[in-house]
Amino acid sequence: MSIRNVLIVGGGFTGLTAAIALARRSVAVTLVDRAKEWARVGHGLTIQGNALRVFKEIGVIDEVLEKGQSEQGLTLFFADGRVMAPLHTPHTGGEDLPPTIGALRPDLHEILVAKAESLGVEIRMGRELVSFENHEDSATSVLSDGTTESWDLIVVAEGIKSPTRPKLGITEDRAPSGLGIWRAVTDRRPEMTGGIAFPLQDDGGAFKVGYTPVSDTQCYVFVLCRPERPDNGLPDWQEVKRLMANYHGDFDFLRESITESTFLNFQEIEWIFVEGPWHRGRVIALGEAVHAVPPLIAQGAAQCLEDALLFAQYVTEDGDLETQMREFHSRRVPRVKGVVEASLLLADWEQNPGSPDADPGRVMADALSALVPAP
Ligand SMILES: Cc1cc2nc3c(=O)[nH]c(=O)nc-3n(C[C@H](O)[C@H](O)[C@H](O)COP(=O)(O)OP(=O)(O)OC[C@H]3O[C@@H](n4cnc5c(N)ncnc54)[C@H](O)[C@@H]3O)c2cc1C
Repeated sequence: MSIRNVLIVGGGFTGLTAAIALARRSVAVTLVDRAKEWARVGHGLTIQGNALRVFKEIGVIDEVLEKGQSEQGLTLFFADGRVMAPLHTPHTGGEDLPPTIGALRPDLHEILVAKAESLGVEIRMGRELVSFENHEDSATSVLSDGTTESWDLIVVAEGIKSPTRPKLGITEDRAPSGLGIWRAVTDRRPEMTGGIAFPLQDDGGAFKVGYTPVSDTQCYVFVLCRPERPDNGLPDWQEVKRLMANYHGDFDFLRESITESTFLNFQEIEWIFVEGPWHRGRVIALGEAVHAVPPLIAQGAAQCLEDALLFAQYVTEDGDLETQMREFHSRRVPRVKGVVEASLLLADWEQNPGSPDADPGRVMADALSALVPAP
C-alpha cells in the first residue's frame, strides 16, 4: 500500500465513512469541515440495508441499530387512505441485516464522529480547502487557515454544492429536479409502520406524502411539493398542513401532530450525476459531490457510504494508484447510474401524475432489487 496520509474535505456521511474506513486500514487521516461545529439538529433518514452493510463493515452497526427503528418495508397508499400495495423492501445488505431502518440524521452523524475520533482521525473544524496542487508522488493542500500541507491523497467529500468539483475538471453542475420538500419529525402511533401516499389528482397540494418511523413514538414526515415556497401568508406549519389536507388515513394523524412548535425545514431538491472521471491526479471527489438524487428511493446516503468504503478498499491494496482510482470509478458508475435514473424517472412522474406508464411501486422495487448484489 502506497497511501500513508490522506486529507478528507467534508465531514458528512461520505467524508466520515471514508475517514473511518481508511483509518481502520492504518492510514493517517485528517478531516476538515467548513462548519465551526457539528449541527446537532436535523431530520430523519430512511437507511436501506446496503447502507447498513457499510455501517457493519466499518464497525458501527450495533450503535446504528440501537438508535434506529427497523422496518421490513412500507405501505403504498392512495391519498384517501386506501391501501394501494405493500412494498417489501429487499434485503440489500444481506439477510442478517434489516431491509431498512429509520433514524435521525444527527444520531448517525454523532456515531460516525465518535468512531472516527476513536480511531485517531484528526478533525479540524472551521477550515475549507482553498486550493490544491498535484505532484508526481503527492498532492498539496492550501487550507483557509493559511496552512500548506502535503498528502498522498485528497478526498473531496463536500456534498452537492462542492466548490472544488470544477477544479477537478468536472463540468457537470447541480440542476433543479422540479421538486421541493418539507420535512418534519413528529408523533406516530405504534401500528403506523411506514408509508407513502400518492394523490388522486393534481389538486394544488403535495405531490406525495410519506413517513418513516424513527423510534417507538416518533416518525420523520416528508411532503413532496413544487420547488417554490408560495408566498401565501401562511406560517410554515400551516403551509405543510395545507399541502397535506387531502391525505387521509394515517396522514390525518400526522397532519394533526404538526403544530406551531414542530421543527420544519423546506428545501428545493437538486441533483447531479458525473459519469466521467471523479479524480484528477491524487485528488478525488466522492459522494454527493459527484452524484446526488431526489430522495425518492432513499438511496442517496447509501450510495455515498458505498463509495467511501469501496474507495478505501481499492486505494489500500498494493498496486498503482491511478489504476486503482480508474477501476474504482468504473465499478461505481453503473450502480450509481441505476439509482440516478430511477430517482429522476420517479421525480418526473411526481410532477406529471397522469403519465400513462407511471408505475412508481415497480420502479422502486426494481431499483432496490438491483442493489441486492454487493457493490
Ligand atoms: C431532502 C433530502 C432527503 C434525503 N433523504 C434521504 C434518505 O432518506 N435516505 C438516504 O439514504 N439519503 C437521503 N438523502 C441523501 C443524503 O442526505 C445525502 O446523500 C448525504 O447526506 C450526502 O452526504 P455527503 O457527505 O456526500 O454530503 P454532505 O452531507 O452535504 O456533507 C458535506 C460536508 O462537507 C462540508 N463542506 C462543504 N464544502 C466544504 C469545503 N469547501 N471545505 C470544507 N468542508 C466543506 C459541509 O459542511 C458538510 O459537512 C436525502 C437528501 C435530501 C436533500
